[in-house]
Amino acid sequence: MPDSLSKMMRPALRDLKPYRVPVHPGVVKLDANENPYDFPAALRDEILGRMRGPAFTRYPDAGARVLRDAIADYTGFGPENIMVGNGSDELILSLMLTFAAGQRVLIPGPTFGMYRIHAVIAGGSPVAAARESDFSVDPGRLLELAREHRARVIVLCSPNNPTGNTMPAADVERIAAGFDGLVVLDEAYYEFCGRTAVSLVDRCPNLAVLRTFSKAFGLAGLRVGYMVAPEALVRAAWRVKQPFNVDTFSQTAAAVVLENRSVFQAQVKRLCRDGAALYGRLRALPGIEVFPTEANFILFRTPLEPEAVYAGLLERGVLIRNPGGPGLERCLRVSFGRPEENERFLRALEQVVGGL
Ligand SMILES: *Cc1c(COP(=O)(O)O)cnc(C)c1O
Repeated sequence: MPDSLSKMMRPALRDLKPYRVPVHPGVVKLDANENPYDFPAALRDEILGRMRGPAFTRYPDAGARVLRDAIADYTGFGPENIMVGNGSDELILSLMLTFAAGQRVLIPGPTFGMYRIHAVIAGGSPVAAARESDFSVDPGRLLELAREHRARVIVLCSPNNPTGNTMPAADVERIAAGFDGLVVLDEAYYEFCGRTAVSLVDRCPNLAVLRTFSKAFGLAGLRVGYMVAPEALVRAAWRVKQPFNVDTFSQTAAAVVLENRSVFQAQVKRLCRDGAALYGRLRALPGIEVFPTEANFILFRTPLEPEAVYAGLLERGVLIRNPGGPGLERCLRVSFGRPEENERFLRALEQVVGGL
Protein backbone atom coordinates (compact mmCIF):
# COMPACT_ATOMS: atom_id res chain seq x y z
CA MET A 1 0.00 0.00 0.00
CA PRO A 2 1.38 3.47 -0.81
CA ASP A 3 2.50 5.54 2.16
CA SER A 4 -0.08 8.16 1.27
CA LEU A 5 -2.91 5.67 1.83
CA SER A 6 -1.34 4.24 4.96
CA LYS A 7 -1.26 7.76 6.41
CA MET A 8 -4.96 8.20 5.65
CA MET A 9 -5.89 5.39 8.04
CA ARG A 10 -6.83 6.34 11.59
CA PRO A 11 -3.84 5.49 13.86
CA ALA A 12 -6.12 3.26 15.94
CA LEU A 13 -6.90 1.17 12.85
CA ARG A 14 -3.25 0.94 11.86
CA ASP A 15 -2.54 -0.61 15.25
CA LEU A 16 -5.47 -3.06 15.06
CA LYS A 17 -4.44 -6.61 14.15
CA PRO A 18 -6.73 -8.27 11.60
CA TYR A 19 -8.81 -10.88 13.46
CA ARG A 20 -7.46 -14.37 12.78
CA VAL A 21 -9.40 -17.59 13.28
CA PRO A 22 -7.37 -20.83 13.14
CA VAL A 23 -8.69 -23.44 10.69
CA HIS A 24 -7.90 -27.11 11.31
CA PRO A 25 -10.15 -29.39 9.27
CA GLY A 26 -11.03 -32.77 10.73
CA VAL A 27 -10.17 -32.08 14.37
CA VAL A 28 -12.45 -32.36 17.41
CA LYS A 29 -13.61 -28.74 17.52
CA LEU A 30 -14.00 -27.50 21.07
CA ASP A 31 -12.73 -23.95 20.53
CA ALA A 32 -15.75 -21.78 19.73
CA ASN A 33 -18.57 -22.81 22.11
CA GLU A 34 -20.79 -23.91 19.23
CA ASN A 35 -23.60 -26.45 19.50
CA PRO A 36 -21.75 -29.72 18.73
CA TYR A 37 -24.80 -31.68 17.50
CA ASP A 38 -25.86 -31.87 13.86
CA PHE A 39 -28.61 -29.41 13.03
CA PRO A 40 -31.88 -31.41 13.17
CA ALA A 41 -32.65 -32.69 9.63
CA ALA A 42 -36.42 -32.12 9.95
CA LEU A 43 -35.86 -28.47 10.84
CA ARG A 44 -33.36 -28.03 8.03
CA ASP A 45 -36.01 -29.36 5.61
CA GLU A 46 -38.60 -27.02 7.10
CA ILE A 47 -36.25 -24.04 6.53
CA LEU A 48 -35.51 -25.12 2.94
CA GLY A 49 -39.23 -25.57 2.31
CA ARG A 50 -39.81 -21.94 3.26
CA MET A 51 -37.14 -20.75 0.80
CA ARG A 52 -39.36 -21.11 -2.28
CA GLY A 53 -40.94 -18.30 -4.32
CA PRO A 54 -39.08 -14.99 -4.25
CA ALA A 55 -36.88 -15.90 -1.27
CA PHE A 56 -33.67 -15.97 -3.34
CA THR A 57 -34.37 -13.21 -5.86
CA ARG A 58 -35.81 -10.45 -3.67
CA TYR A 59 -34.09 -8.48 -0.93
CA PRO A 60 -34.72 -9.72 2.59
CA ASP A 61 -37.22 -8.00 4.88
CA ALA A 62 -35.18 -5.08 6.24
CA GLY A 63 -37.41 -5.04 9.30
CA ALA A 64 -37.07 -8.81 9.88
CA ARG A 65 -40.67 -8.71 11.05
CA VAL A 66 -41.43 -12.44 11.27
CA LEU A 67 -38.22 -13.10 13.19
CA ARG A 68 -38.64 -10.08 15.47
CA ASP A 69 -42.17 -11.23 16.32
CA ALA A 70 -40.78 -14.68 17.16
CA ILE A 71 -38.04 -13.14 19.35
CA ALA A 72 -40.62 -10.87 20.99
CA ASP A 73 -42.63 -13.97 21.87
CA TYR A 74 -39.49 -15.74 23.18
CA THR A 75 -38.29 -12.83 25.33
CA GLY A 76 -41.62 -11.39 26.47
CA PHE A 77 -40.94 -7.98 24.89
CA GLY A 78 -42.50 -6.24 21.90
CA PRO A 79 -40.99 -6.25 18.40
CA GLU A 80 -40.27 -2.52 18.89
CA ASN A 81 -37.77 -3.59 21.57
CA ILE A 82 -35.92 -5.96 19.23
CA MET A 83 -33.24 -5.41 16.60
CA VAL A 84 -31.59 -8.33 14.79
CA GLY A 85 -28.02 -8.37 13.57
CA ASN A 86 -25.61 -10.38 11.43
CA GLY A 87 -24.55 -12.17 14.56
CA SER A 88 -24.56 -10.32 17.85
CA ASP A 89 -21.07 -9.22 16.79
CA GLU A 90 -22.71 -6.81 14.35
CA LEU A 91 -24.92 -5.42 17.11
CA ILE A 92 -21.89 -4.77 19.30
CA LEU A 93 -20.47 -2.72 16.42
CA SER A 94 -23.83 -0.97 15.82
CA LEU A 95 -24.02 0.08 19.47
CA MET A 96 -20.42 1.30 19.41
CA LEU A 97 -20.97 3.24 16.17
CA THR A 98 -24.09 4.85 17.66
CA PHE A 99 -22.74 5.71 21.10
CA ALA A 100 -18.99 5.15 21.47
CA ALA A 101 -17.35 7.29 18.76
CA GLY A 102 -14.84 9.58 20.48
CA GLN A 103 -15.80 8.16 23.88
CA ARG A 104 -14.26 5.85 26.47
CA VAL A 105 -15.68 2.34 26.66
CA LEU A 106 -15.17 0.58 30.00
CA ILE A 107 -14.71 -3.18 29.63
CA PRO A 108 -14.26 -5.36 32.73
CA GLY A 109 -11.95 -8.19 31.67
CA PRO A 110 -10.90 -10.82 31.04
CA THR A 111 -13.84 -11.02 28.66
CA PHE A 112 -14.88 -11.43 25.01
CA GLY A 113 -12.36 -9.72 22.72
CA MET A 114 -14.81 -8.25 20.23
CA TYR A 115 -15.92 -5.48 22.61
CA ARG A 116 -12.50 -3.89 22.44
CA ILE A 117 -12.14 -4.42 18.69
CA HIS A 118 -15.54 -2.94 17.83
CA ALA A 119 -14.98 -0.01 20.19
CA VAL A 120 -11.76 0.78 18.30
CA ILE A 121 -13.34 0.31 14.86
CA ALA A 122 -16.14 2.70 15.86
CA GLY A 123 -13.62 5.35 16.92
CA GLY A 124 -13.98 4.82 20.66
CA SER A 125 -11.28 4.22 23.25
CA PRO A 126 -11.53 0.97 25.16
CA VAL A 127 -10.53 1.11 28.84
CA ALA A 128 -9.81 -2.27 30.43
CA ALA A 129 -10.99 -2.73 34.02
CA ALA A 130 -9.72 -5.74 35.96
CA ARG A 131 -12.36 -8.08 37.32
CA GLU A 132 -11.99 -9.40 40.90
CA SER A 133 -9.84 -12.51 41.47
CA ASP A 134 -12.94 -14.74 41.09
CA PHE A 135 -13.76 -12.89 37.81
CA SER A 136 -16.78 -11.17 39.35
CA VAL A 137 -17.50 -7.48 38.77
CA ASP A 138 -17.80 -5.21 41.82
CA PRO A 139 -20.53 -2.72 40.83
CA GLY A 140 -19.33 0.03 43.18
CA ARG A 141 -15.74 -0.22 42.00
CA LEU A 142 -16.80 -0.32 38.34
CA LEU A 143 -18.96 2.79 38.74
CA GLU A 144 -16.06 4.55 40.40
CA LEU A 145 -13.78 3.64 37.47
CA ALA A 146 -16.46 4.80 35.02
CA ARG A 147 -16.51 8.21 36.72
CA GLU A 148 -12.74 8.38 36.93
CA HIS A 149 -12.29 7.61 33.22
CA ARG A 150 -15.43 9.50 32.15
CA ALA A 151 -16.57 6.36 30.35
CA ARG A 152 -19.76 6.66 28.27
CA VAL A 153 -20.25 2.95 27.59
CA ILE A 154 -19.87 -0.06 29.91
CA VAL A 155 -19.86 -3.59 28.49
CA LEU A 156 -20.89 -6.51 30.71
CA CYS A 157 -21.08 -10.19 29.79
CA SER A 158 -23.07 -12.83 31.71
CA PRO A 159 -22.21 -15.69 31.67
CA ASN A 160 -18.84 -14.15 30.94
CA ASN A 161 -16.71 -15.55 28.12
CA PRO A 162 -14.13 -17.04 28.76
CA THR A 163 -14.51 -17.27 32.56
CA GLY A 164 -18.01 -18.83 32.73
CA ASN A 165 -19.36 -16.89 35.72
CA THR A 166 -22.65 -14.98 35.76
CA MET A 167 -23.45 -11.59 37.20
CA PRO A 168 -26.48 -11.07 39.48
CA ALA A 169 -29.25 -9.02 37.84
CA ALA A 170 -29.21 -6.77 40.92
CA ASP A 171 -25.60 -5.83 40.12
CA VAL A 172 -26.49 -5.05 36.50
CA GLU A 173 -29.33 -2.86 37.72
CA ARG A 174 -27.08 -1.06 40.17
CA ILE A 175 -24.59 -0.31 37.41
CA ALA A 176 -27.27 0.84 34.95
CA ALA A 177 -28.93 3.04 37.59
CA GLY A 178 -25.64 4.58 38.72
CA PHE A 179 -24.36 5.39 35.23
CA ASP A 180 -25.75 7.86 32.72
CA GLY A 181 -24.08 6.29 29.67
CA LEU A 182 -24.96 3.09 27.82
CA VAL A 183 -24.74 -0.31 29.52
CA VAL A 184 -24.44 -3.29 27.17
CA LEU A 185 -25.14 -6.70 28.69
CA ASP A 186 -24.12 -9.65 26.51
CA GLU A 187 -26.13 -12.78 27.31
CA ALA A 188 -24.81 -14.96 24.46
CA TYR A 189 -24.89 -18.01 26.77
CA TYR A 190 -28.22 -17.31 28.46
CA GLU A 191 -29.82 -20.60 27.40
CA PHE A 192 -27.17 -22.63 29.25
CA CYS A 193 -27.71 -21.00 32.64
CA GLY A 194 -31.33 -19.85 32.44
CA ARG A 195 -30.39 -16.69 34.33
CA THR A 196 -31.11 -13.36 32.68
CA ALA A 197 -31.38 -9.67 33.49
CA VAL A 198 -33.46 -8.94 30.38
CA SER A 199 -36.51 -7.86 32.38
CA LEU A 200 -34.46 -4.82 33.51
CA VAL A 201 -34.92 -3.39 30.00
CA ASP A 202 -38.40 -2.30 31.17
CA ARG A 203 -36.98 -0.02 33.83
CA CYS A 204 -33.42 0.81 32.70
CA PRO A 205 -33.59 3.26 29.76
CA ASN A 206 -29.83 2.89 29.19
CA LEU A 207 -29.60 -0.93 29.05
CA ALA A 208 -29.20 -3.04 25.88
CA VAL A 209 -29.17 -6.84 26.21
CA LEU A 210 -27.56 -8.93 23.45
CA ARG A 211 -28.30 -12.56 22.64
CA THR A 212 -27.34 -14.90 19.80
CA PHE A 213 -28.50 -17.90 17.79
CA SER A 214 -24.87 -19.04 17.44
CA LYS A 215 -24.49 -21.01 20.64
CA ALA A 216 -27.44 -22.96 22.10
CA PHE A 217 -29.50 -22.65 18.90
CA GLY A 218 -26.84 -24.12 16.59
CA LEU A 219 -26.82 -21.40 13.93
CA ALA A 220 -23.25 -20.05 14.21
CA GLY A 221 -22.82 -20.51 10.46
CA LEU A 222 -25.83 -18.34 9.62
CA ARG A 223 -24.95 -15.28 11.72
CA VAL A 224 -28.03 -14.16 13.66
CA GLY A 225 -28.04 -12.24 16.91
CA TYR A 226 -30.48 -9.86 18.52
CA MET A 227 -30.71 -6.97 20.92
CA VAL A 228 -33.46 -6.38 23.47
CA ALA A 229 -33.56 -2.72 24.48
CA PRO A 230 -35.87 0.22 25.19
CA GLU A 231 -37.56 1.35 21.97
CA ALA A 232 -35.62 4.64 21.86
CA LEU A 233 -32.34 2.72 21.99
CA VAL A 234 -33.45 0.37 19.21
CA ARG A 235 -34.41 3.37 17.08
CA ALA A 236 -31.04 4.99 17.72
CA ALA A 237 -29.02 1.91 16.76
CA TRP A 238 -31.28 1.34 13.72
CA ARG A 239 -29.72 4.47 12.16
CA VAL A 240 -26.40 2.72 11.61
CA LYS A 241 -27.91 -0.62 10.58
CA GLN A 242 -27.29 -1.85 7.03
CA PRO A 243 -30.83 -2.16 5.61
CA PHE A 244 -30.37 -5.80 4.60
CA ASN A 245 -28.00 -6.91 7.34
CA VAL A 246 -29.61 -10.33 7.91
CA ASP A 247 -30.40 -12.36 4.79
CA THR A 248 -33.68 -14.17 4.13
CA PHE A 249 -32.25 -17.62 4.74
CA SER A 250 -30.91 -16.65 8.16
CA GLN A 251 -34.09 -14.83 9.17
CA THR A 252 -36.12 -17.90 8.19
CA ALA A 253 -33.82 -20.35 9.94
CA ALA A 254 -33.82 -18.37 13.19
CA ALA A 255 -37.63 -18.12 13.16
CA VAL A 256 -37.94 -21.90 12.60
CA VAL A 257 -35.48 -22.51 15.45
CA LEU A 258 -37.56 -20.44 17.84
CA GLU A 259 -40.78 -22.17 16.76
CA ASN A 260 -39.06 -25.46 17.63
CA ARG A 261 -37.08 -24.33 20.63
CA SER A 262 -37.98 -27.40 22.69
CA VAL A 263 -35.64 -29.41 20.42
CA PHE A 264 -32.74 -27.14 21.39
CA GLN A 265 -33.75 -26.97 25.03
CA ALA A 266 -33.40 -30.76 25.11
CA GLN A 267 -29.94 -30.49 23.50
CA VAL A 268 -28.90 -27.86 26.05
CA LYS A 269 -30.01 -30.12 28.86
CA ARG A 270 -27.99 -33.01 27.47
CA LEU A 271 -24.94 -30.78 26.84
CA CYS A 272 -25.04 -29.44 30.39
CA ARG A 273 -25.34 -32.92 31.86
CA ASP A 274 -22.40 -34.20 29.81
CA GLY A 275 -20.55 -30.95 30.51
CA ALA A 276 -20.93 -31.47 34.25
CA ALA A 277 -19.34 -34.91 33.86
CA LEU A 278 -16.50 -33.33 31.84
CA TYR A 279 -16.06 -30.74 34.58
CA GLY A 280 -15.74 -33.42 37.26
CA ARG A 281 -13.22 -35.44 35.27
CA LEU A 282 -11.17 -32.35 34.43
CA ARG A 283 -11.09 -31.27 38.04
CA ALA A 284 -9.82 -34.69 39.07
CA LEU A 285 -6.76 -34.40 36.82
CA PRO A 286 -3.62 -33.69 38.89
CA GLY A 287 -2.35 -30.14 38.52
CA ILE A 288 -5.45 -28.81 36.73
CA GLU A 289 -7.38 -25.95 38.34
CA VAL A 290 -10.94 -25.64 37.05
CA PHE A 291 -13.08 -22.51 37.31
CA PRO A 292 -16.82 -22.79 37.96
CA THR A 293 -19.00 -22.36 34.87
CA GLU A 294 -22.62 -21.56 34.09
CA ALA A 295 -22.09 -21.71 30.33
CA ASN A 296 -21.19 -24.43 27.78
CA PHE A 297 -17.44 -24.10 28.25
CA ILE A 298 -14.86 -24.51 30.99
CA LEU A 299 -11.89 -22.30 31.82
CA PHE A 300 -9.02 -24.23 33.40
CA ARG A 301 -5.46 -23.52 34.49
CA THR A 302 -2.65 -25.94 33.75
CA PRO A 303 0.78 -26.34 35.31
CA LEU A 304 2.36 -25.87 31.85
CA GLU A 305 2.56 -23.03 29.38
CA PRO A 306 -0.80 -22.79 27.59
CA GLU A 307 0.86 -22.67 24.14
CA ALA A 308 2.43 -26.08 24.81
CA VAL A 309 -0.85 -27.59 26.01
CA TYR A 310 -2.74 -26.08 23.06
CA ALA A 311 -0.19 -27.45 20.58
CA GLY A 312 -0.05 -30.86 22.27
CA LEU A 313 -3.82 -31.19 22.09
CA LEU A 314 -3.86 -30.10 18.46
CA GLU A 315 -1.23 -32.74 17.62
CA ARG A 316 -3.69 -35.23 19.09
CA GLY A 317 -6.54 -33.88 16.98
CA VAL A 318 -8.27 -31.67 19.55
CA LEU A 319 -8.73 -27.92 19.07
CA ILE A 320 -9.48 -25.73 22.10
CA ARG A 321 -9.01 -22.04 22.84
CA ASN A 322 -5.97 -20.26 24.27
CA PRO A 323 -7.57 -16.95 25.22
CA GLY A 324 -4.44 -15.33 26.70
CA GLY A 325 -4.29 -11.91 28.31
CA PRO A 326 -4.18 -10.47 31.84
CA GLY A 327 -5.82 -12.59 34.52
CA LEU A 328 -5.71 -15.72 32.36
CA GLU A 329 -2.14 -16.86 32.97
CA ARG A 330 -1.74 -20.55 31.95
CA CYS A 331 -5.49 -20.74 31.26
CA LEU A 332 -7.27 -22.49 28.42
CA ARG A 333 -10.93 -22.77 27.50
CA VAL A 334 -12.69 -25.90 26.28
CA SER A 335 -16.25 -26.05 24.94
CA PHE A 336 -18.76 -28.73 25.94
CA GLY A 337 -18.81 -31.28 23.13
CA ARG A 338 -20.56 -34.55 22.46
CA PRO A 339 -19.58 -37.24 25.01
CA GLU A 340 -17.10 -38.92 22.65
CA GLU A 341 -15.50 -35.52 21.92
CA ASN A 342 -15.17 -34.74 25.62
CA GLU A 343 -13.55 -38.14 26.04
CA ARG A 344 -11.04 -37.46 23.23
CA PHE A 345 -10.17 -34.13 24.84
CA LEU A 346 -9.68 -35.62 28.31
CA ARG A 347 -7.50 -38.43 27.03
CA ALA A 348 -5.37 -36.04 24.98
CA LEU A 349 -5.02 -33.64 27.91
CA GLU A 350 -3.96 -36.44 30.24
CA GLN A 351 -1.22 -37.39 27.80
CA VAL A 352 -0.07 -33.80 27.31
CA VAL A 353 -0.04 -32.77 30.96
CA GLY A 354 1.40 -36.07 32.09
CA GLY A 355 3.90 -36.37 29.27
CA LEU A 356 5.55 -32.99 28.76
C1 LIG B 1 -19.84 -16.26 20.73
C2 LIG B 1 -20.10 -14.96 21.36
C3 LIG B 1 -20.77 -13.95 20.69
C4 LIG B 1 -20.88 -14.03 19.18
O1 LIG B 1 -22.10 -14.10 18.75
P1 LIG B 1 -22.45 -14.06 17.22
O2 LIG B 1 -23.91 -13.89 17.33
O3 LIG B 1 -22.04 -15.35 16.62
O4 LIG B 1 -21.78 -12.89 16.59
C5 LIG B 1 -21.11 -12.79 21.35
N1 LIG B 1 -20.76 -12.61 22.64
C6 LIG B 1 -20.09 -13.55 23.30
C7 LIG B 1 -19.71 -13.30 24.71
C8 LIG B 1 -19.73 -14.74 22.69
O5 LIG B 1 -19.01 -15.64 23.34
